[in-house]
Amino acid sequence: MAAGMIPVTKLAYFDNMWAVESTATLLSHLQTEDGRRALILDSTIFHPQGGGQPADTGFISGAASGFKFVVEDARLKDGLVYHYGSFENPRDDFVSIAKEGEEVSLYINPQRRDLNSRLHSAGHLLDICMRKVGLSHLEPGKGYHFLDGPFVEYKGIIPPDLLQIKSKELEKEANALILTGGQVSASVLSYNEAAEWCGGVLPSYIPTDSSPRIVKLGDHPGCPCGGTHVADIADIRNVTVTQIRTKKGLSKGHAARVSDPSSFRVFDPYLSSPLVPGLSSEISSEPKRLSVL
Ligand SMILES: [Zn+2]
Repeated sequence: MAAGMIPVTKLAYFDNMWAVESTATLLSHLQTEDGRRALILDSTIFHPQGGGQPADTGFISGAASGFKFVVEDARLKDGLVYHYGSFENPRDDFVSIAKEGEEVSLYINPQRRDLNSRLHSAGHLLDICMRKVGLSHLEPGKGYHFLDGPFVEYKGIIPPDLLQIKSKELEKEANALILTGGQVSASVLSYNEAAEWCGGVLPSYIPTDSSPRIVKLGDHPGCPCGGTHVADIADIRNVTVTQIRTKKGLSKGHAARVSDPSSFRVFDPYLSSPLVPGLSSEISSEPKRLSVL
């Protein structure tokens, strides 16, 4: 089946962010121009890289034909999720093994998903805390929820003498909210309902005729998001705000160092900036109307 003829992949994690196993139908398999192999399914629990969140990894197996395809990456393109990887048995290939239309089982790496969800939820939690520490006038920008230096970005100005104080306040507030806990929910809503969930207004990039997916942490105002999250704010466990860095009027509060003994790393996001392609150029191209601190 040609990729162009396939209906969009149903993003099963929209309905259930916590399923780590599922079944689906294999619709197509292909080899890309760069030699990578990919499977396309009718629905998936694999989160493709996007929205600041890395892709899930795991495997897909076909019970009838007995193949096991190890998924190293997942990407969303034109509504289709491409599960990139390779057969566990190198002798297997698409033609002889994987059969279009067969039922397959999906398994995502639960530890990786859990960490990605914690990092993503930590970014949303920091956004809530920005309002609580008197920084609601800053305009939210992008979030980066990768392990190598997660951050949330804002446009606006924080006076230099307040940077450290606000950083500490953010961290204190975030960990207090983690201690209290609160259910995390995600729903695809009508525009008006979505606006209500988000405290009355939606960001201007959400089309008024769309049905956005809104993620809400506890009773705090929600925000549009396509990612996966923890089930309860308490599951974030701990947040360390390493610093707030400003550049040309951009402020970044770092949701870095979500403490996790199994994968503990100290992040210095500024040393790892080459790992964030395009970030530097994006910052330097910020409009000059913003003051330099
Ligand atoms: Zn999000």
